[in-house]
Amino acid sequence: NRQIKLASRPNGVPTSDNFELTTSDIPTPNDNQMLLRTVYMSLDPYMRGRMSASKSYADPLEIGDVMLGGTVAQVVESNIDKFAVGDLVVSNSGWQDYSVSDGEGVLKLDKNMSNPSYGLGVLGMPGFTGYMGLTDIGKPKKGETLVVAAATGPVGATVGQVGNHLGLRTVGVAGGAEKCAYAVEELGFDICIDHKADDFAEQLKNACPDGIDIYYENVGGKVLDGVLPLLNAHARIPVCGLVSQYNATDLPDGKDRLGMLMGHILSQRLTIKGFIIFEEYGDHFPEFLKIMGEWVESGKVKTKEHIVDGLAQAPQAFFDMLEGKNFGKTVVKVADV
Ligand code: NDP
Repeated sequence: NRQIKLASRPNGVPTSDNFELTTSDIPTPNDNQMLLRTVYMSLDPYMRGRMSASKSYADPLEIGDVMLGGTVAQVVESNIDKFAVGDLVVSNSGWQDYSVSDGEGVLKLDKNMSNPSYGLGVLGMPGFTGYMGLTDIGKPKKGETLVVAAATGPVGATVGQVGNHLGLRTVGVAGGAEKCAYAVEELGFDICIDHKADDFAEQLKNACPDGIDIYYENVGGKVLDGVLPLLNAHARIPVCGLVSQYNATDLPDGKDRLGMLMGHILSQRLTIKGFIIFEEYGDHFPEFLKIMGEWVESGKVKTKEHIVDGLAQAPQAFFDMLEGKNFGKTVVKVADV
């Protein structure tokens, strides 16, 4: 049983020294457990936070722990009535070949699902995050302008496409021309701007002639700087993630802009609300799955995956994702079904 463990805590950008690949025996399930074999593994930005010692909404990993994460796995042995050998499930098995589970928090996938890995992306945690953050906190109204960065990733792509269906003007932000072209041509964003462009703020302003009503916050940093002056009165900001800051070891250089931010909150009467998807909205997951399942099936919502082959490739794929070298939902294929 290959396992990738946290070997040391990163200081800034994570490196391969922070991970260790070890091998152990395949675990044996007890009378109330099942044995799962990992097929696909999800890589998500939040994992960077768990590698650090600081406590966030969840406890950090300890040194020597198997890296955590969502997985699609196959049941290979089962002592639980609800799960049969051969079933495909979404579990939290982490970065390893085999794990045992008591079935808690494990979701059985439809046998006929053509792409089980979607259970880690558009039909899983990231898709659910985009859907709930936009609809519940964003409070979208037809004709309003929405801005979302990491627009081709699983969260941003969902936000943009749901926004389109709700009649919003959708402005995506992504890294590079190829991602921006995909956002417009495939995902249907009205426009997409490259955050690496020198005149990013100017381009964003031109893309939002009526200001911004919803800024779905995925990245922070330069994108937030560009957005702030464009926010309309009563704009809403679902604070979903701040990926540009996840490797930061200190506050950014430059003038303290906290006062300016508070000024915008006051003068524009902004609603800014952070959320952690399953903590706030767990009960809504079945209803989300039904709606999004139909939309994906009918082609109303499209998705792109960035599939990397082999468990051992996970650390590099994880670094790449944090740097934006992924194009679509990052998934590691660990084994064949
Ligand atoms: P992605 O697969 O989109 O990967 C992250 C992307 O962030 C990169 O591909 C890159 O896209 C972009 N990025 C990285 N650095 C920067 C930067 N400096 N400036 C601008 N963009 C940058 O991620 P997800 O869709 O899985 O997640 C998106 C966000 O949602 C993350 O912040 C994540 O932490 C958050 N999240 C929050 C949850 C919650 O419960 N609150 C649950 C799930 C996700 P590009 O090349 O286009 O810039």
